[in-house]
Amino acid sequence: MTGIIEKLYRTADLSDAELRALIESDDAEAAELLRGRADEVRQRHYGKKVFLRGLIEVSSYCKNDCLYCGIRRSNKDADRYRLTREQIMLCAESGYELGFRTFVMQGGEDSTFTDEFMCGVIAELRGKYPDCAITLSLGERSFDSYRRMKEAGADRYLLRHEAASEELYAKLHPSELSLAHRKQCLYDLRSLGYQVGAGFMVGAPYQTTSDIIADLRFLQELKPQMIGIGPFIPHHSTPFADEKGGTLGLTLRLLGILRLMFPKVLLPATTALGTIAPNGRELGLQTGCNVVMPNLSPVNVRKKYDLYDNKICTGEEAAECRACLQRRIEAAGYEVAVERGDCVI
Ligand code: SAH
Repeated sequence: MTGIIEKLYRTADLSDAELRALIESDDAEAAELLRGRADEVRQRHYGKKVFLRGLIEVSSYCKNDCLYCGIRRSNKDADRYRLTREQIMLCAESGYELGFRTFVMQGGEDSTFTDEFMCGVIAELRGKYPDCAITLSLGERSFDSYRRMKEAGADRYLLRHEAASEELYAKLHPSELSLAHRKQCLYDLRSLGYQVGAGFMVGAPYQTTSDIIADLRFLQELKPQMIGIGPFIPHHSTPFADEKGGTLGLTLRLLGILRLMFPKVLLPATTALGTIAPNGRELGLQTGCNVVMPNLSPVNVRKKYDLYDNKICTGEEAAECRACLQRRIEAAGYEVAVERGDCVI
């Protein structure tokens, strides 16, 4: 395994067979070598900086029915909410005071969040916070919608491709959603000049090593500025309630591999990673991650943005989350960077 990891470190690529061996290896020495090399590469490009993204979960209404997701439209038990423009602005205001210089508006595909509504919010944020990046994560929309939101002032868009294998994509999504359209959205976003984020869940039901290799190859083709991965975690009111979740070991291995394959990428230590292990995000930071995305949503709606069971950070005020994360980041040996944190590519 040492030879494979060193080759990945030197060349940022491996054959499918080598990737398979590394992805499937649970050797502790190999894990430590991968961690060390990933940390070396992240420090070469980003030093010890960790970028904060203030996550504003704008709506839990969703017209889609993704089988893994707790806010899928068929979940009749979901307690739904959507934020008003004023609420979103208040979240940003408190976030700015806390040192956030990127705001991420994420939500289900809520048809009341029209282009007009979104462009109004984006333009207001752009006017009030010219030094901040505005990131959107609102799912699949038309080229024209992406164009209008870009013109209103959005900078970045997160849209995980979820699964680059047609077969797996079809097992995780209802038939009205297609991988081809998901990919088209990512290419549209890129052509419009957005900094783009893609990614997938680790340990999703039916996912094989070949599927993961397909995800890595798709990412090599797309070359996104950001890559979001986190463990799949079952939600009790979905068809995948009784499935096993993704493991810490495999998620860390993939984070290390991603850092070495994409040396300059922005790579978050996700909330899902912090949910499956108390020190999951710290371990992620030590294995190549350079971004964390604390929650800025109003505390009274936090529990309702319920993608998976036992989600952490649903009880604290933004300021508490910020202080807690700062402590965690520093204890892990890194430092919080109060800046937009663009990709160095
Ligand atoms: N509607 C937006 C935002 C989706 S939520 C969109 O389509 O992009 C953000 C991410 O949460 C999803 O892309 C998915 O990968 C992840 N997610 C959803 N359900 C999950 C679960 N049960 N476990 C772990 N991650 C989950």
